[in-house]
Amino acid sequence: MKIAFIGIGNMGEPMAINLLKANHTIFVYDIVRKKINRVEKEGCVYKESIKLAVKDADCVITMLPEGKHVKEAYLNEDGIINHTNRGSFLIDCSTIDVKTTKEIGIIAKNRNLSIIDAPVSGGTFGAENASLTFMVGGRVKDFKFSKPILSKMGKKIIHMGELGAGQITKACNNMLLGISMIALGEVFTLADKLGLDQKKLFKVSSKGTGMSWAMLNHLPVADIIKTAAANNEFKAGFAANMILKDLSIALSLADSVNLKTPAGALAKSLFERFVEEGGGDLDYSAVIKLINGTNKSI
Ligand code: NAD
Repeated sequence: MKIAFIGIGNMGEPMAINLLKANHTIFVYDIVRKKINRVEKEGCVYKESIKLAVKDADCVITMLPEGKHVKEAYLNEDGIINHTNRGSFLIDCSTIDVKTTKEIGIIAKNRNLSIIDAPVSGGTFGAENASLTFMVGGRVKDFKFSKPILSKMGKKIIHMGELGAGQITKACNNMLLGISMIALGEVFTLADKLGLDQKKLFKVSSKGTGMSWAMLNHLPVADIIKTAAANNEFKAGFAANMILKDLSIALSLADSVNLKTPAGALAKSLFERFVEEGGGDLDYSAVIKLINGTNKSI
């Protein structure tokens, strides 16, 4: 299959490489040219615009930061909808607001194009190891069609409901993730201040009732687990800007059904402060700096 992959960032890069390894032809485009360097070396074909990338593709995958980028990529004059093949299949893996997903869905449907939302969970490690979880929204027949493609990048591919249901699932999941990261920052700072060995706390909690995915994979303390951004001066795998976007999506979904979510709101306000203070491009686990006071140096 010929696949156009748009958005070669922290996630898009390893995902495109995994599709290439599965013997697909991959056309790649990113608004920042140098982001293509690694995938081009691996064998992906660079195209100078979205228009050129999608022209001969059977399937288009987008992995972009926010709703506004996705809207631009699909709906601009030179964008995906206007230039993709009529029979081509569209997959948006970005985490975005449901309203944008549905708006693009209506336009795609009017042009007889099949589209699904398929945001992911599993982080850059999951993207590199083709072990992502895909939360799919869309028609059952489109879900079935997408499965062999998504299975080259992930292990769990789950149909959540109609178009947009993937995004709702992702917003719920990442509200949990954001709240978990704040809790980890607080508790590991508290332990440190009380003179406890953080490694020993991890040994107990990672096998105990306080355990979470964020703890096992993104612990905000260095030199305990391999996959922590804390080992690497919090260079972003998953940027603080991104979790703030996700918490904003989750809270507006809660608003839309008149539900109060105070823990989610507090997590959002803390990430907001962290981003305002200059931490937006750091990994989201760096929010521990706000709690332990080392954010002054950002
Ligand atoms: P990223 O910022 O590293 O990558 C996004 C890429 O899109 C960048 O290379 C950027 O230059 C490119 N881009 C922006 N606008 C563009 C446009 N109009 N046309 C072409 N390219 C454009 O972000 P990421 O971490 O790879 O995340 C991508 C999406 O996946 C986000 O929605 C994020 O919330 C979600 N996500 C990220 C992670 C993670 O751990 N990083 C995990 C799950 C989901």
